[in-house]
Amino acid sequence: MSSIADNLGSVTRRIQKATLHAGREPGSVSLLAVSKTRSAEELRQAVAAGQRAFGENYLQEALEKIEALSDLTEIDWHFIGPIQSNKTRQIASAFSWVHSLDRLKVARRLSEQRETGLPPLNICLQVNINNEQSKSGCQPDELPTLIEEISQLPGLTLRGLMAIPDPEQTESALRESFRKLANTLKKLRQDYPEAGPLDTLSMGMSGDLEIAIAEGATWVRIGTAVFGERSPKS
Ligand SMILES: *Cc1c(COP(=O)(O)O)cnc(C)c1O
Repeated sequence: MSSIADNLGSVTRRIQKATLHAGREPGSVSLLAVSKTRSAEELRQAVAAGQRAFGENYLQEALEKIEALSDLTEIDWHFIGPIQSNKTRQIASAFSWVHSLDRLKVARRLSEQRETGLPPLNICLQVNINNEQSKSGCQPDELPTLIEEISQLPGLTLRGLMAIPDPEQTESALRESFRKLANTLKKLRQDYPEAGPLDTLSMGMSGDLEIAIAEGATWVRIGTAVFGERSPKS
């Protein structure tokens, strides 16, 4: 069985190779280690191997790990799961990024609850890129209003867009989904130059990071390729 350190090495090489192949700046793609269902001990191993950014989906589970790893002040916590509006306070105080924001009510709460001593929370708006009604994420046509409103909130910095495309698509359809997200961001940057840096595309997972990087990903969210297969959640 390969270790977490070995896996991080291979994923990092995959990212470097894909970045080079796409003709992009070395270092322009960051690795978010998705650590849902993983133990604090496994995260500790990843930190020892040099990993800093971790993505968590479930708030309660995340808070337990944040507490258990509070001695590792170098960790950067990213929230990437569905957000219940009554749980925003803890997200606003414990995380530095949220990739899964998709509605204004939650945005307002996160901004109000972000402590003034902390830098603004970095935000990616999650977009439902394949129009699946069941999944979370806003519809692309809701983005202009969301951007206009959220850019006024002092506790948040608008960094970009996130999507989880339907993994059952063909490779070319998947590539098209990533490209659509990248073009959407480009358009928003032109239309709303004052809204925030809008420099971030959170897209690509263990199985498709090369395609996502070719289409402009700046954060790839990698679980399985770093920590191994997840056992089904009981
Ligand atoms: C679980 C998860 C990932 C990581 O998926 P892998 O296929 O294990 O790399 C990425 N993004 C989100 C939002 C996830 O929930």
